[in-house]
Amino acid sequence: MTQLHARNPRTGQLDFEFEANNREDIERASNRLRAAGQDWQNLGLDGRMAKLGELSDALTRHHAAIAERLSIDTGRRAIAAREVDGVIGAIFGWLAQAPHLLPEGWTDGRNNPAIRHAPQFVPYSLIGVISPWNFPLTLSMIDTIAALLAGCTVMIKPSEVTPRFVDPMMTAIAEAGLADVLTFVQGDGATGAALIDHVDAICFTGSVATGRKVAAAAAGNMIPAFLELGGKDPLVVLASADIEKATDAALRGSVLSTGQACQSIERIYVANSIHDAFVARLVEKAKAVTLNWPDIGRGHLGPIIFDQQAKILQAHIDDAVAKGAQVLTGGKVETHGGGKWLLPTILAEATHEMLVMREETFGPILPIMSFDSEEEAIALANDTEFGLSAAVFAGSLEEAERVGRQIEAGGVSLNDAALTALFHEAEKHSFKLSGMGGSRMGSAGFQRFLRRKALIANTGAPAPIGAFAEDAN
Ligand code: NAD
Repeated sequence: MTQLHARNPRTGQLDFEFEANNREDIERASNRLRAAGQDWQNLGLDGRMAKLGELSDALTRHHAAIAERLSIDTGRRAIAAREVDGVIGAIFGWLAQAPHLLPEGWTDGRNNPAIRHAPQFVPYSLIGVISPWNFPLTLSMIDTIAALLAGCTVMIKPSEVTPRFVDPMMTAIAEAGLADVLTFVQGDGATGAALIDHVDAICFTGSVATGRKVAAAAAGNMIPAFLELGGKDPLVVLASADIEKATDAALRGSVLSTGQACQSIERIYVANSIHDAFVARLVEKAKAVTLNWPDIGRGHLGPIIFDQQAKILQAHIDDAVAKGAQVLTGGKVETHGGGKWLLPTILAEATHEMLVMREETFGPILPIMSFDSEEEAIALANDTEFGLSAAVFAGSLEEAERVGRQIEAGGVSLNDAALTALFHEAEKHSFKLSGMGGSRMGSAGFQRFLRRKALIANTGAPAPIGAFAEDAN
């Protein structure tokens, strides 16, 4: 057995020890889940909806315990509680939609009306979910709820950086009577790799580098991989934009959760004519943002959860400064009580030569460039190997839409930023290196867990072989 230690992001202490599940554990868990899978499918959608209702009740009862552990994992309190609320809300959302998402009944053939077809939806027996450390609960459950409702069983491996919330989650799952169809396993990349060898499809949320390994392993096993990876989201602020609203959205979209969100705004392009006024107002607002240190109950920004990430943030800032950027706020990773923190860091005069404009930063950093024309803004926004999401601000929705339609990204917020964090009803793909596979949002987020089988019926007489003879006419 391998023992792992998790670091507390507020103290820097390795204060949590846990056992990594090995390949044999994964095999045992997968056998157990698969054995329960048929009964789970036989329950039917109504039966499974009732059980997910029980999960929601159990999560409500264990809300405080889960949120408290999650708060130690992530060093933030209010967002931890919101993560639990979000999962309960997502269950209600899927319960309301699920009965309406699958077509039923027979359809006559277009070429030959005697041949009719009907769909049957066959769930994968076992779905694997591998999640990252930035929203440990949300990203463990976002695909899980729809997969369970579809009739799959699910095995989740959360990040080894944030393992504490798992115990109270398992208690809630057991209380809801779902332990046979939903389980967590713990461990690092080795456990994740073993999981991919024991499931029928894999939902992965994490970095591009690991996503490539997951995609290769899934291809070797001939299983579908749904990959939700990193981003370098641009915000384009056109000359007609309302500066007050645009700076509100830019700041929140960049620094919320200390920028540790895949859909964070990571690059800002502002029309020349309003650049100085925009930057001045953004700096004023950024200066009012505070750390939730020493009191976790006050302030806006929690610690940098993963200490290795702190090194990347500082390296990106230092690289930008060395290449001519000006630090207008923040700029230095701070150590308080053993944790690593960074205040909103506005970098003026950024260029695409800088790492901070090219690689995922995953921190509260706002590098800003100005542009002369709409075409230039679109070209700059698209000059990236990522395509997760983006945002456009303009004086009118029509203008924002016109630019938004030309940006190569899966979700584009118009006159706001990072709306995909708040709104999950719209289907979206991840473009370029930001991911692969069907949408996790919208109704496709449910349908992708079902293989579609076609029942094809001939209501007329079957054709004899003579109809295909060389001399038949
Ligand atoms: P990561 O890729 O380092 O790790 C993610 C998960 O993969 C962890 O559970 C890890 O243990 C596991 N893992 C590592 N090696 C593995 C392997 N060989 N096989 C299987 N699993 C393996 O990512 P991270 O640092 O935890 O998370 C941050 C990244 O996640 C950022 O790039 C961020 O943009 C991305 N992210 C994307 C989304 C999205 O929806 N697109 C959402 C949140 C985070």
